Amino acid sequence: MQIKAGTTSSNPTMRAATCTGGEFAVEQVPLPEPGPGQVLLRVVRTGICGSDLHARQHADQLADVADALGYPTLMRPADRVVMGHELLGEVVSYGPRTRGRWKPGTRIVALPMVRNGEDIHMVGFDTRSPGGFAEYVLVQEVFAFAVPRGVPDDLAAFTEPLAVAWHAVRRGAVGRNQPALVIGCGPIGLAVILMLKAKGVKTVIASDFSPVRRDLARRCGADVVVDPRVDEPWTAYTLEGPVGSLPDYARFGMDAVGLMRRVPLLPWGRLIRAGETLGVAPSGPVVFECVGVPGVLDEIYAKAPLRSRVVAVGVCMEPDTVRTAFALNKELEVRYVFGYDPEEFEHALDLIASGKVDPSPLHTGTVGLRDLAAAFDGLAGAEEHAKILVDPTLV
Ligand SMILES: [Zn+2]
Repeated sequence: MQIKAGTTSSNPTMRAATCTGGEFAVEQVPLPEPGPGQVLLRVVRTGICGSDLHARQHADQLADVADALGYPTLMRPADRVVMGHELLGEVVSYGPRTRGRWKPGTRIVALPMVRNGEDIHMVGFDTRSPGGFAEYVLVQEVFAFAVPRGVPDDLAAFTEPLAVAWHAVRRGAVGRNQPALVIGCGPIGLAVILMLKAKGVKTVIASDFSPVRRDLARRCGADVVVDPRVDEPWTAYTLEGPVGSLPDYARFGMDAVGLMRRVPLLPWGRLIRAGETLGVAPSGPVVFECVGVPGVLDEIYAKAPLRSRVVAVGVCMEPDTVRTAFALNKELEVRYVFGYDPEEFEHALDLIASGKVDPSPLHTGTVGLRDLAAAFDGLAGAEEHAKILVDPTLV
């Protein structure tokens, strides 16, 4: 049928970019066979993710963390793996116990997770679930979604990273009138900006050292874009409510309480509680950490206004130090976020398909399997690139 297998024997193969000890090679590997509940896709595009760069350089640290979390089979440096988890492909065939929901040729995006019996495998991070830097890939039918006709491949391929950003924005619980700060405008930061604007957040302030990325942030809809060498993102907005710093808050409190207590019998304590309910109490912005480098969270703790909510989205693979006294004194609320759920994933696809979100500014290149190593190197040094897509049909 549609499978253009590398051999005609009973063990068909496919071209894939394998990674062993951080080195890529394009070689023939076994064509995956769909197991129960699984669908075989012909890969159309697979995005290169920051997590892929981490997995190439820090596989052991990632695997140690995963092991401690009850996932013992994440790739180790010595393993030969096929990475790639931001998947767009066409249905080729179905395994047993599937519903056969879509006709062969239908374009599909899917959560990068397959199940073999009781074992869950992360597609693209595990020797047992080869990823999308290949001609074919397996996904789980229950976690797959058809891409509506007319949606360009290069946009549909952004479903997975936009789902990550949408989850972060949802967990950040940003009010429409609450300022949102995005620290770091790499692919994740840019996707967070897109999703904040899609949610209707009025003031999005973005900060990045790279002029290219600042320009991309503007194109993604950021209202204020700051070069942290020149300006502070912390002064680029005005907060709703009375104050931003601890002494300001103390002064405000003394003035307000002093005023109220001058009036005999005024229930000033109750007025304070009522004011809190009405939002007069200090409430800071929501700050999205999208860098993932040691020291960035600490700087945010030190500089964020009172009662800011800090959402840690960037993946930091090294031990990081933060001065928690800042978080305590300012009552910062810190949320770490990871991944997304199927509803968020489908919502990201809907936003792309309806045109409400346009991820095209993030798309800065497309390569074939042979150029994967160069693309990884380019992204690691990254100033000019945001997201590079892999098209395995390119030579
Ligand atoms: Zn990713």
